[in-house]
Amino acid sequence: MTPVWRRELRRIVLLLSGALGIGFHFQQPQLAFAVCCAGYVIWQWLQLYRLHHWLEQGQSTQLPTTLGIWGSVFRQTKHLQRRSQKHQQRLQAIINRIQDSTAALQDAVLMVDSHGNLEWWNRAASDFLGLKAPVDVGHPITNLIRNPAFKDYFDAVDYREPLSIPSPVNTQLQLQFNITLFGRKDRLILVHDVTRLKQLEQMRKDFVANVSHELRTPLTVIAGYLETMDMASEQLPPRWQRMITQMSQQSRRMETLISDLLMLSRLETGQQQPPQEVAVTALLQSIVADARALSGERQHAIHLSIESDDRLRGYPDELHSAFSNLVFNAVKYTQERSHIIVRWSHDEQGAWLCVKDNGPGIDEHHIPRLTERFYRADPSRNNQTGGTGLGLAIVKHVLLRHQAELVIRSRLGEGSEFCCHFPLERCHYGAVTAESEPDEHPA
Ligand code: ADP
Repeated sequence: MTPVWRRELRRIVLLLSGALGIGFHFQQPQLAFAVCCAGYVIWQWLQLYRLHHWLEQGQSTQLPTTLGIWGSVFRQTKHLQRRSQKHQQRLQAIINRIQDSTAALQDAVLMVDSHGNLEWWNRAASDFLGLKAPVDVGHPITNLIRNPAFKDYFDAVDYREPLSIPSPVNTQLQLQFNITLFGRKDRLILVHDVTRLKQLEQMRKDFVANVSHELRTPLTVIAGYLETMDMASEQLPPRWQRMITQMSQQSRRMETLISDLLMLSRLETGQQQPPQEVAVTALLQSIVADARALSGERQHAIHLSIESDDRLRGYPDELHSAFSNLVFNAVKYTQERSHIIVRWSHDEQGAWLCVKDNGPGIDEHHIPRLTERFYRADPSRNNQTGGTGLGLAIVKHVLLRHQAELVIRSRLGEGSEFCCHFPLERCHYGAVTAESEPDEHPA
């Protein structure tokens, strides 16, 4: 038993013995005992009432003081109250500090609950997105940021890549949205101002496009003169003949490089005509015919297999460029008489164009970097093939504009396979084709 309880017990015993003593003195011990018990119970109730009253007042008034066990209860309650006040003040200080620091952030921060309703945001979010406190609290975020791209991105719940859109209050501002899921599908949205970055990127694109465009005219003139000289080269000494042939080859290479750079700039600027229905069979037949011509005496066995006569909704020139880059690469980077299979097929996830060869293959560590501009798996080979190192970058951009993706499978010594996968919404499936086109040069 604790000393407080011991003291309380002693007090009760003293009180009762006092009451009994007085009772015996007046020969009314029962009455004295009953009066003493009643007094004690009333006193207990009074203390209970004071405590309850204090609690009901919201603990704003001073806590009463008293004797005995109740005094101890009041003191401990007061102590607990002080501790909880200190704790609250500490928490409030932390919250204030976090609010101050997020308010000072240049990036916008928003918290959205699991139903997609806005809970909290910082000052930058008000500036970037025009949010107003407190009216916007609890409203669906997709009603406050009215942009179809944002709604699609938010609802898709696939936040691996950020989303870039103009600010709803100032179209000059380019904003990048990064969403992180936490708790039970709550969302933390970070919005970064990427206007300057976008401007620099645009400047870079414009620069490459302008330089390529400006180089084109002088190069055409030089290539024209070289061609004329090449035609009359029998009249020149052999040393000159060799030089002119080399100059013609290099000017042709530069022409290809410039047209690839211009193609990439066009793909990047994103200006598009409305998409068309592209007949895949005719497109692939014409590319395979060109590939056979490119192979010429190297006699590749090129096999075209078309599962069904489908149509693809897209941009015919871009698709022609992407598919021919893959097929021509298979011709360029494999030995003579190699086998190349160009296969068009579809399944419930969409359509596939695969170009498979049994050439030298590509070392695994090159594969993730193949679509980078000017990246070459084997630089020595490119000098012979006249490649620019831009072919697969063009393929990647074309596929991006068709919401498609490039899958590369290759192993050194085991050949390569490049597959383009188109989503269902881009495909119109046609009749199943009975037969594939036979090889031109069966091995
Ligand atoms: P290029 O215009 O030089 O052909 P690409 O971007 O088309 O450049 O290809 C990048 C590199 O990928 C090439 O330099 C080549 O080394 C490698 N590559 C592409 N296709 C094949 C293939 N079918 N077999 C082996 N290597 C390939």
